[in-house]
Amino acid sequence: MSRKLDLSSGRPVWSAYRAPTVPTDSLTRDVKTDVLIVGMGISGAMMAEALTADGHRVICIDRRGPLKGSTAATTALVAFEIDQPLSTLSKMVGRASAQQAWRRSRLAVSNLAGRIAELGINCGLSRMPSLYLAGTMLGPSELRDEAEARRLAGIGAICLTRQQLAEKFGIDRQGAILGHGNIALDPRKLTAGLLLKSLERKARFYAPVEATMIEDSAEAVVVATRDGPTITARHVVLATGYELVDIVPAAAHRIISTWAIATRPQPRKLWPDAAFIWEASEPYLYMRTTVDGRVICGGEDEDFIDEARRDELIADKSTRIAEKLGLIFPHLDTRPDFAWTGSFGTTTTGLPYIGAIPRHPRIHAVLGYGGNGITFSQIASEIVPASINGLDDTDARLFAFNR
Ligand SMILES: Cc1cc2nc3c(=O)[nH]c(=O)nc-3n(C[C@H](O)[C@H](O)[C@H](O)COP(=O)(O)OP(=O)(O)OC[C@H]3O[C@@H](n4cnc5c(N)ncnc54)[C@H](O)[C@@H]3O)c2cc1C
Repeated sequence: MSRKLDLSSGRPVWSAYRAPTVPTDSLTRDVKTDVLIVGMGISGAMMAEALTADGHRVICIDRRGPLKGSTAATTALVAFEIDQPLSTLSKMVGRASAQQAWRRSRLAVSNLAGRIAELGINCGLSRMPSLYLAGTMLGPSELRDEAEARRLAGIGAICLTRQQLAEKFGIDRQGAILGHGNIALDPRKLTAGLLLKSLERKARFYAPVEATMIEDSAEAVVVATRDGPTITARHVVLATGYELVDIVPAAAHRIISTWAIATRPQPRKLWPDAAFIWEASEPYLYMRTTVDGRVICGGEDEDFIDEARRDELIADKSTRIAEKLGLIFPHLDTRPDFAWTGSFGTTTTGLPYIGAIPRHPRIHAVLGYGGNGITFSQIASEIVPASINGLDDTDARLFAFNR
């Protein structure tokens, strides 16, 4: 029913921090529920928490187990700044839609921070400013246009000249946009926290269980599993990450490869405000810090999916990422303490697809794409529950499959 990818390899930094265990059961007989969620990564966890909060009976399944997909490999910078600059996205989807996507993204990050605080989930959340450095894609004058475009959409953006950037952050680049409102966190702790909250509200978790076939009628959806039992639900949410289920339209979707490193903790050597930094380049380099002062730096994306080739490149790519990091901050110890790689889904516009699958109103898909994957998972956990509750989210059309 869906392709199995080798989602990541190497040692992601999150293995240094203990996430709570999420208990699961074996599925030994046919079961029924209101909503079945396929996938127990960050997208499935957000969905389960939102749906149980609305009072739905929820079952989650995962063929690997909770927190074992891409969520274990993410660098977990939750940015409202969509990978596709607002000025570029406007040319692709029109100005009004691009502004709407950026604004919704801004709201989603703020909603997620509020949600984590409200649920009391300890996931090392920190709020940080962001610096978008001039690069090969947007030079200083295009960066000024981008800042202006953001301000016109109601999103704060401050332009820093080369001199201001050097004085305030010690970085030698031609200029930057300074923004506020992003968060960074430990993705496994957040996912476990959301799943455990759903469990308190009587969600049922079965793993390892693989969905192999989906059949829907006007009243229900029946999902067959590899080991035999079936699950019948009023609605199914496919939160399967980059492993698309056959029924999900995949025309605009492609998988690329990405690499990341994390240094040893060095809290005294970090740059001012531990700002999230990324470049207006293609491919871009990005960096964030952890609560104990490690630097996580990633990028070097390549447009191929071959997992063996991707894994072979870990040593070369991590050396290259460390060198690039050292060029920006020469005083840092850039030696990788952790180095890993992962597959990464992306779309033509960079915007995700969220919502009911065309002609299958009871089957919803949540595709958390690219560098804003977690932000988009949050948006999905707002749009899909609204639709299951028979309500219309104001931005649903923007992300719909038939947009
Ligand atoms: C190196 C790297 C860096 C990243 N950095 C960032 C970042 O800084 N910020 C950001 O927002 N995003 C980032 N992302 C993207 C982000 O990690 C993803 O968007 C997010 O983890 C996807 O979560 P998910 O729950 O949708 O998928 P997953 O975590 O992959 O979970 C999907 C689950 O579905 C299960 N599954 C699949 N098919 C079936 C089936 N048929 N039956 C049962 N179970 C099934 C899988 O086993 C898996 O556990 C990064 C990704 C990578 C790889």
